[in-house]
Amino acid sequence: MKQVAPGYTILKRYGRYKNACWVLENNGEAAVVEMPMYSAHEKPPHERLASYLRRRKLHLKYGIVTHGHVDHCKSLPEFRLHFPGTTFVTHRSMLEDRHFLSIMARNRHLPRQAWNEGSFRLFDEVYEGQLWTGTLGGEPIHLIYAPKHSYTDQLLLFRGAMITGDWYLGDLRDCNALVRPEHKVQAIDQAVDIVHRLRHHVHMLFSGHGDCLYYRVDFERMMQRSKVYH
Ligand SMILES: [Zn+2]
Repeated sequence: MKQVAPGYTILKRYGRYKNACWVLENNGEAAVVEMPMYSAHEKPPHERLASYLRRRKLHLKYGIVTHGHVDHCKSLPEFRLHFPGTTFVTHRSMLEDRHFLSIMARNRHLPRQAWNEGSFRLFDEVYEGQLWTGTLGGEPIHLIYAPKHSYTDQLLLFRGAMITGDWYLGDLRDCNALVRPEHKVQAIDQAVDIVHRLRHHVHMLFSGHGDCLYYRVDFERMMQRSKVYH
């Protein structure tokens, strides 16, 4: 377990891709960010989360994944089944993403015919536009739809930090070429614009995997750098 910043804890980095399972918290309320793939020898992340919440007397208000790739979302159905009182939030693009849906369809914990139909839904709140806003213990928490690494990317904004999923920061390139360069540039511009409008001072940037933790960052400069191939 690692306390990364005020209100930001990494429970553990799971599985062979070492993706983090994050807990964000404020005034008794928490959000889980990333529901990673894990190995057979690891205690399931939802169990670790449950004991963490119990010890700290936290209510799990939100469940969020930064994008629909297997290392970030594989255990989502298990979290969904174990935390029925939690609001799972995502952007519309996630429910239209065939890659994400095929990962969910292969999960042995998932009741058949899920996919946000019938009685079992993967998500409670699905936003359509660029921005979703909630609150954790009175503090705003935002999701910004901004496709760069994938067409399901959402940046998370809370208490001066941003979780950037698998964005390759400081460069237009990413570890794949799923998103067209012009869409990446547009997503970066829109994200910067939204952060300005929210008057949120972002000074920390954390990768979803928890391996890149940037403190005292010039957010604007980092975003401008991310619009160019270096
Ligand atoms: Zn990843």
